[in-house]
Amino acid sequence: MIIPLLKGLATTLKACFSKPITLQYPEVKRPVAPRFRGHPELVINDDGDRRCVACTLCMVVCPSNAIRGIEAAEGENHEKYPVAFTIDLTRCIFCGFCQEACPKAAIKLNNLYELAQYDKSRLILDIDKATQEKSQLRMADWL
Ligand code: SF4
Ligand code: SF4
Repeated sequence: MIIPLLKGLATTLKACFSKPITLQYPEVKRPVAPRFRGHPELVINDDGDRRCVACTLCMVVCPSNAIRGIEAAEGENHEKYPVAFTIDLTRCIFCGFCQEACPKAAIKLNNLYELAQYDKSRLILDIDKATQEKSQLRMADWL
C-alpha cells in the first residue's frame, strides 16, 4: 500500500524539478526550424526598396493561383518594379515554389504561423501588406 504511494510521490517530485516541456504561449513562442515555411512575403533591400522586378515568374509558377495582379512600372534607369502585387493567403499552400522560382530572391516564405483570422479578407495581402517589415508588424497587431 505504501510503496505505490511513495512511487507516485517520487514521480510527482521528479516532475516538479524537471525542465517544463510546455511554453506560456502566446507570450512565449516556440522557435521554428530554419526550413519552416510560413507565409510568402516580398523582401526589401537595405535601401528600403523591394527587390522585386515584377517579372511575374512567381505568379506563373504558383500552383494555387495565390499570387495575382502583378503590375509593373518602369524607373528612370528602365528598371522595372511592381506597383501592384497580391498574395492571397486563403489560397496559398505554402509550397515555396514562388521562392524557388524568383530570380531576384525577392519573395520568401517567412517564419510566421499565427495566421488564423475571423475575417478572411485580411488574408488577402496587397503589395504593402505583403512586404516584409509591414507584413510582420501587421501580424503582431493581430495578436
Ligand atoms: S508558397 Fe506556393 S502556393 Fe503559396 S504563393 Fe508561393 S507558390 Fe503560391
Ligand atoms: S517576386 Fe520575384 S518572381 Fe515574383 S515578380 Fe518579383 S522578381 Fe519576379
